[in-house]
Amino acid sequence: MKKVIIRKTEEIENWRRNINSEINFIPTMGNLHNGHVKLISTAKNDNSNVNLVSIFINPLQFDNKLDLENYPKTIDNDIKISFSNGADAIFIPSNEDIYPPNNKNIKLLKAPIELSSALCGLDRIGHFDGVCTVVYRLLNLIKPKNLYLGEKDWQQLLILKNLVLKKKLNVAIKSIATQRDFDGIPLSSRNVHLSKNERKLIRFFSSELLEAKKNFQKEKKINLNEIIKKLSTKKISIEYLEHLHPHTLKKARLEDNISLLAGAIRCGETRLIDHVFLMKRRPIIAIDGPAGSGKSTVTKLIARKLKLLYLDTGAMYRALSWLMIKESIDYKKEKKLEDILKDISIVFKSNINSHQDVFINNYCVTEEIRSQEISSIVSKISSIKEVRKFLVKEQRKIGESGGLVAEGRDIGTTVFPDAELKIFLTASIDERAKRRKSDEQSKEIQEIDLDTLKELIKKRDFEDSNREISPLIKANDAIEIFTDGYSINEVVDKIIDLYNEKVPKEAEIK
Ligand code: C5P
Repeated sequence: MKKVIIRKTEEIENWRRNINSEINFIPTMGNLHNGHVKLISTAKNDNSNVNLVSIFINPLQFDNKLDLENYPKTIDNDIKISFSNGADAIFIPSNEDIYPPNNKNIKLLKAPIELSSALCGLDRIGHFDGVCTVVYRLLNLIKPKNLYLGEKDWQQLLILKNLVLKKKLNVAIKSIATQRDFDGIPLSSRNVHLSKNERKLIRFFSSELLEAKKNFQKEKKINLNEIIKKLSTKKISIEYLEHLHPHTLKKARLEDNISLLAGAIRCGETRLIDHVFLMKRRPIIAIDGPAGSGKSTVTKLIARKLKLLYLDTGAMYRALSWLMIKESIDYKKEKKLEDILKDISIVFKSNINSHQDVFINNYCVTEEIRSQEISSIVSKISSIKEVRKFLVKEQRKIGESGGLVAEGRDIGTTVFPDAELKIFLTASIDERAKRRKSDEQSKEIQEIDLDTLKELIKKRDFEDSNREISPLIKANDAIEIFTDGYSINEVVDKIIDLYNEKVPKEAEIK
């Protein structure tokens, strides 16, 4: 495809008509650095859409005239960087193109007060209104499928997500983690203004935030005053330093697993922001749903794509059922059962095909637990109080430091009620029976006719949903996905999009 530079808004329309493809849009104010490069290359590698980079210094978002005048302008270099990293087109409009003086259709937007009055909004009056106005204008002109933004400006990202939602714009926001320079400071176009000494100060500030993140992982708490005290020894002028909920920007609560520590400091004429996400543990995804709803297939793929641990809790109930049959354990005798459970070990191990094997007391039962005999007894065994107590404890142990996607019946309600994302996966009984049938055919296990399969699934659903302890129900805060008519990949992509909305990219980094 021929690479183009577009300078007039009218040309955008023409260009769009000719490209015959969806658009990835990367808005910038120029003076591109490796943070922008990462945005452009991420867009390029994400899909086969056409990538459009815009370079426009938006006067509306500057609350200080001098700052606007001094904003670094390096257009020739920006063009080179954009094209060599995957841009197919660059849009470089003038002020009059974006804000034609007599066009009454161009409205000045207001950013939502709840999000824009915190952090940077306190001192930069009107800044986020200007950001919303220009991005809304650009989105209407370009009509992209995806909008790529950096998490470095986390507050801006939240405000733009809110704008897209409020205006019902048909665009997906994709974010990338803050890119840092060799010395740990976040890359920013304004860094060129820093003197050697100012750079040293911001380095100290960033390293304090990164240190606080490390400490939080160990101690699960933060002392803002201590950090402020340390910063003041370097005579760093702090505009704000706040510990907040990452999505509402309200004060962080004790129970928040992920929170935001954000600050702004002034070094001479330059104002710099930085933040880190504090995490008590790595993120967890809980996927619950009835038999045959596609949980295993979907959960495995998500684990692989997001590099999370995969936890199949159903396999644990099945393994235990297998052992009870094998060793003729009388599970009705509660006291005895408790004693037996104490000595049972269930572990998962990756095999040479990169699948998981299940071991109970060191015996591999991966294949055997999928038999009809086990399927027909597992619901009975999983309804026993002692069994649930034992396995829930084991599951929580596995998920102690997070970083996993777990599937089952009670993950979102009981095992990990504080999971970052809860999905309730379901499908019609016909669809679920069909899926089980093709599963059986592909695994060449003893086949059952479709109607019998339907009855068996219904029976298991009934038992799982009506047992006394942690029955199968949708957690209040779970998102239900009805999968009839959707491909596996569509469901996986949907869940990954939901995950990306909840969990900042930076929070995934160990
Ligand atoms: O998911 P799968 O079909 O392998 O689950 C087998 C059975 O294990 C379920 O029908 C249910 O009785 C039980 N189970 C449970 N709680 C979980 C996972 C599975 O009770 N979290």
